Amino acid sequence: MPMQRAPRASFERMNATLLACPKCRVAVPVRKRLLLVLPNGEKYEYVCPQCGSTCGDTIEPPARPF
Ligand SMILES: [Zn+2]
Repeated sequence: MPMQRAPRASFERMNATLLACPKCRVAVPVRKRLLLVLPNGEKYEYVCPQCGSTCGDTIEPPARPF
């Protein structure tokens, strides 16, 4: 896993992420919930607002002072 360089600038938007919920079987505007803080970033999980199922997770690297 190439961890050295991240050529992609982060252009995250504030609008909700749409993910397919495994239970509802539709794309839902998931809620992002902080799961745990790791040395290399923060782990979030995406939760369905309707049934509460986990639709996915992500690890975001810590914000850099650049
Ligand atoms: Zn759901």
